[in-house]
Amino acid sequence: MLWARAHAFALQLSAVHILVLNVGSSSLKFQLVDTDGDAIAAARDRRLARGQIERIGGEAIITLAAGTAPPTTSSEPIADLAGAVSYILRWLAQARDGEPAPITRLADIGAVGHRVVHGGERFKASTLVTDEVRRKLEALIDLAPLHNSHNLRGIDAARAALGADIPQVAVFDTAFHHSLPEHAYLYALPYQLYRRYGVRRYGFHGTSHRYVAYRYRELTGTPREQVKIVTLHLGNGASACAIVDGESVDTSMGFTPLEGLVMGTRSGDLDPAILDFVSVKEGLVLRDIETMLNKQSGLLGISGLTADMRELLAEEKENGDRRARLAVDVFCYRVKKYLGAYLAAMNGADAIVFAGGIGENSPEIRARICANLDWLGIAIDEGKNASAVGTEGRIDADGARVAAWVIPTDEELLIARDTWRVVTGAPLP
Ligand code: ADP
Repeated sequence: MLWARAHAFALQLSAVHILVLNVGSSSLKFQLVDTDGDAIAAARDRRLARGQIERIGGEAIITLAAGTAPPTTSSEPIADLAGAVSYILRWLAQARDGEPAPITRLADIGAVGHRVVHGGERFKASTLVTDEVRRKLEALIDLAPLHNSHNLRGIDAARAALGADIPQVAVFDTAFHHSLPEHAYLYALPYQLYRRYGVRRYGFHGTSHRYVAYRYRELTGTPREQVKIVTLHLGNGASACAIVDGESVDTSMGFTPLEGLVMGTRSGDLDPAILDFVSVKEGLVLRDIETMLNKQSGLLGISGLTADMRELLAEEKENGDRRARLAVDVFCYRVKKYLGAYLAAMNGADAIVFAGGIGENSPEIRARICANLDWLGIAIDEGKNASAVGTEGRIDADGARVAAWVIPTDEELLIARDTWRVVTGAPLP
């Protein structure tokens, strides 16, 4: 660990470029963030570059943006993840439009922060990826085959490209939910399934819920241990989180991200007896049904049109499409039910917070979710709601007992900050 200590010392001396990587099955999203303790304290972290490469393995679509410049899109063949990482590193080292390159040499990257979907019960906070940690992450692939194997490939590709001396940090989607009490995470199944195989609710989107709770604290001047809110991350994936005393006490995603709210293509909650019924009727094996629940259900499944909320709202408005309206109604109704359930579980909350592509940008969906919740103390101000689009803002009506906020999420920023903290030995908040 000598290198890690020497590196930590060097990192404390100056602001550090942190490369944030989020690797999926055939895509890679990245950001380059310049940060250190002072920047974090003053919220003055600098975003030097961002982008994504999709359809890796074929003709890839490459979207890149340096600094505050608008993104450019191009396409070219990229064979694999290693090729995608090299492409990004080469691009980061190029000067363009009279601006200096975000990095002049690979060694300018002080550390890499990885989004890792599943940390199981073992990883309760962001962690330096040592050989031992890597082995433990590999063991977790069993729990999250759809995600963790890609995240691990990302760690390996970054290590191969940058060398073993650049520290890599894993930031887990599950970690924020490690505080769930037993009664919230246990399924009512034979207990030995939990003991033998870890069948329980883990929850995901933790980095987003944690970021949103942190910004809520900043915006309202609330000490962490007094934060009592429900956060709603509504994007392609969607989840709700009940936060009491600053900690996650319940969340809607479960053993996998499939449980809970209706999502772009995921069903969310359903009666498990449907699986066998559909398998017999449609002659499908379990794996096909799982694919159906993950990829062909949710907004897409109900509407038969699209998983994209913006398009559904347009179809509903412009063409009066019945199934588009139904998809939106089922989506909003499910969120409303979770909201009610969490307010009961928490004995009320001080605020609800909307985040994610839909939560941040759609006043209409926010209004539909919050309609007729005045008995619970929730009421939205139409004007404030309409003006909080893609920006932070408070949107509750005068006199509402429960505040309502829009807080755009920023998982990459939190990953960069955690990475800096882990490699410098600063305490994780
Ligand atoms: P991901 O979970 O993939 O990160 P996002 O958080 O970007 O997804 O959310 C994508 C969703 O947000 C899509 O359904 C998109 O239609 C929706 N969305 C974005 N802008 C708007 C808008 N103005 N009105 C309604 N929905 C929107």
